[in-house]
Amino acid sequence: AYDLTGRSILVTGAASGIGRATALLLAQAGATVHCADLDEKGLDETVAQAGPTAHAHPLDVTDRAQVRKAVQAAAPLHGLVAAAGIMHRSTVVDTDDADLDRLWAVNFKGVLHACQEATLAMTEQQTGGSLVTLASGAVDSGTPQLLCYSVAKAAIVQLTRTLAAEAGPHGIRVNAIAPGWIRTPMTTRDTAEAQAHTEKLMARMSPLGRVGAPEDVAHAALYLLSDAAAFTTGQILRPNGGVAMP
Ligand code: NAD
Repeated sequence: AYDLTGRSILVTGAASGIGRATALLLAQAGATVHCADLDEKGLDETVAQAGPTAHAHPLDVTDRAQVRKAVQAAAPLHGLVAAAGIMHRSTVVDTDDADLDRLWAVNFKGVLHACQEATLAMTEQQTGGSLVTLASGAVDSGTPQLLCYSVAKAAIVQLTRTLAAEAGPHGIRVNAIAPGWIRTPMTTRDTAEAQAHTEKLMARMSPLGRVGAPEDVAHAALYLLSDAAAFTTGQILRPNGGVAMP
């Protein structure tokens, strides 16, 4: 059911963490994987690990023209995983316009550009397809210091729903993944001691008693891209260990 043989899939943020784990899993499932990221070195490592069906596209998702080029190179495109993103911490009163503009540009506009270009290509090719966006568990609650991040992620949820409604008639499904706390370079920038403390706390909040791994999210993406999810669109899938059950 999760066979992606013959499918061409673009993964943004593929140089690290969730994007990399997803690219590797999709390649294992038979897909031709187009890996996009700012980080060229990380991208090369992902492509080397994924094997001969993987291709590197160094790009900045904030530039729609660069995203369009990658989508065209991946033609005919069957799937997208928009995982490129950044994290920024500041309280509401300390948030300045530059923080908000940067988070909005990368975390929302970057995902929007990929969804726009993928939808245009799939509509023109009449291939149908499946788009997967990366939201966050942050949209289900109020997390201190994550205003800019949460605003962009909430906007991604709304983009996902709106596009699912608009593109469904073209055979294009659009779903969001809202992961809980996942151990990746984004979440492991603390000292070892602070890191252990955070992970213990996060694991205790889950009925499953552990934090998430990038592969937990990659499997959710594989499902949503596959024909097993043929009747699923406009939804939020939450690989979060049961930390939140909205
Ligand atoms: P990560 O930092 O390991 O990977 C993010 C990747 O995005 C990096 O390789 C980075 O170079 C790339 N990137 C950043 N800005 C870019 C740009 N302008 N153009 C192209 N590429 C760019 O982070 P991750 O934890 O793997 O996160 C992946 C996605 O999952 C993000 O959208 C993140 O918000 C989301 N997410 C992560 C968690 C978590 O706990 N790790 C939880 C919920 C949601």
